Amino acid sequence: MTIRKLEEPWRFYVEPFCVYGNLYSVGNRGVCSWLIDTGDGLILIDTTFPQTVYQTVDSIYRLGFAPADIRYVLHTHGHCDHMGGSRSMRDLTQATFCIGAEDVDVCEHRGEMSEAELYDMNFTAYFTVDKALRDGDTLTLGNTEVLCVHTPGHTPGTMSYFFDITGEQGSFRVGMQGGPGIHTLVDDYLAAHDLPKSLRASYIESVARLRQERVDIHLTGHPGQSRIFPRKATLDEGDSLAFVDPGRWPKYLDYLESCFRDEYPA
Ligand SMILES: [Zn+2]
Repeated sequence: MTIRKLEEPWRFYVEPFCVYGNLYSVGNRGVCSWLIDTGDGLILIDTTFPQTVYQTVDSIYRLGFAPADIRYVLHTHGHCDHMGGSRSMRDLTQATFCIGAEDVDVCEHRGEMSEAELYDMNFTAYFTVDKALRDGDTLTLGNTEVLCVHTPGHTPGTMSYFFDITGEQGSFRVGMQGGPGIHTLVDDYLAAHDLPKSLRASYIESVARLRQERVDIHLTGHPGQSRIFPRKATLDEGDSLAFVDPGRWPKYLDYLESCFRDEYPA
């Protein structure tokens, strides 16, 4: 199954924008990339596809920042739509590249695990991971502390991230579940990718774990999963708190749980 060809990456382009305070969107129509200005350097979450990373780089400049000021590149998980641009990004920054420990191999040499076939491409954009993240790790830079929560399921090393963002109307807690897709949990997929069946149980345990977190601003790895563009439209209409919605996080987790139960009844 091919989701979408990347031969015309310009079709993915969207303008970067400020979500709230020191948090920015530098992703594209298909995949998100988030930029935090910590006051002492930048944190980038996900680098999108190899074919679209030039747009993320351009977006960082358009917002008045520079890739050279990125100190951490975090990845939600080791699929090519989220870490594919990291090989290119590495040449533009001295950042520390981080991903969940169980997904390191994909980035460094196991392209067959990167879901490249889903996009009708070969994955060759390998990069060295500087820091393998573990559950409960925190990364501190400038005014920002990112909590890394290991939420295996979509991939073995999927990480979810939580941090505070401050703007004119106060501080809000941002939460990003690192990978909601459950197509990776069917028997055929697990067998073909040499993954354990226990990932299914891990997924639902991860959802339960995430209920412990309070989230005001819900972000995702793909725009449709958290209605990024409709909320951006509301932002453009003048609602500076368009992305602040504390009720959204538990509903999203309910949704993930119900999708899982439908697909994999106990
Ligand atoms: Zn994925």
